Amino acid sequence: MKKGNSILTDSFGREHNYLRISLTERCNLRCTYCMPADGIALSPKSHIMTYEEIYTIAQKFVANGVTKIRLTGGEPLVRKDVSLIMEQLASLPVELAITTNGVIVDRYIEQFKTYGIQKINVSLDSLDALKNESITRRDYFTKVYNNILLLVQEGFEVKVNCVLIKGFNDNEVIDFIELTKNNKLQIRFIEFMPFDGNKWNMEKLVSLEEILQQVHNEYDVKHFTRLNDQPNDTAKNYKIAGYEGSFAVISSVTNPFCDSCNRIRLTANGQLKNCLFSTSESDILTLLREGKSIEPIIQKAIISKKKIRSGMNTLDKFKDPNSHNNRSMIAIGG
Ligand code: SAM
Repeated sequence: MKKGNSILTDSFGREHNYLRISLTERCNLRCTYCMPADGIALSPKSHIMTYEEIYTIAQKFVANGVTKIRLTGGEPLVRKDVSLIMEQLASLPVELAITTNGVIVDRYIEQFKTYGIQKINVSLDSLDALKNESITRRDYFTKVYNNILLLVQEGFEVKVNCVLIKGFNDNEVIDFIELTKNNKLQIRFIEFMPFDGNKWNMEKLVSLEEILQQVHNEYDVKHFTRLNDQPNDTAKNYKIAGYEGSFAVISSVTNPFCDSCNRIRLTANGQLKNCLFSTSESDILTLLREGKSIEPIIQKAIISKKKIRSGMNTLDKFKDPNSHNNRSMIAIGG
């Protein structure tokens, strides 16, 4: 594929070579920041992409320049045919990765190895079992914690996603960083983002600046270094000298990283979102089912991508509750 000449290049010259596919809207957890208390209205099963459709759509993206696919959800591993999906996607010339809540990850270790899935992101928001239960509304802390250690032992590249919420788990920043002392993993603190029904407000947000302040208070400046970011990295990466692992901050709200954005998202019901914050979607699945070409609609979605966070270019815009009229994160695929 000639650089800059693809249907996946937007009007700001950003090339989108990273596709995140949500496999399901279902989840075995009920995280408060991800979904409303009374759940979401699930799409009818017939509206969810079949494994064949996922493969066909992925093939087209790969033919147009996608080099990395991440499976997400909902919880991707609760989808019954997830093994088949992984097997099929593994036959494409792409790097395959997955984001999971880790609850049943131990059952998939061998399959991940077989299908070349090396990069695994696992969500864990507290190291306190009771707090974890209160945020996930389920009691799986020990299982998830042990599964994270198992993945590290098995040699996977593990990132632990931790959404920080003021007054709830922001006092655990240092405890999480200490986990990187003897474990080769990365902790990623994610700024809390607004989505439909998650009761977001600015006061609950723990910013990049506040996180770094805690780190400065705890560690000697000499022992705390900023790592070089990878191209298209969403995270700002750091390391405590001598620690095996590292930590990072994904500051989507206070310090967005849209300039180098290379991501596009496909929801479980076959809608393309050109940005996490975008409220408009492109219905790829209907066109595919009608036997029509999907490339023109993909190109249109990419071309219409805005420069910053789908137009949410100032912090003030977050304060407008209308800006939260997006799908719940569980239905987008984080
Ligand atoms: N079930 C999988 C999991 O738990 O990782 C994948 C889906 S989950 C929606 C993907 C990621 O989105 C998780 O790391 C989660 O913490 C993050 N996420 C969900 N809602 C969020 C929010 N409001 N702000 C920031 N991150 C959020």
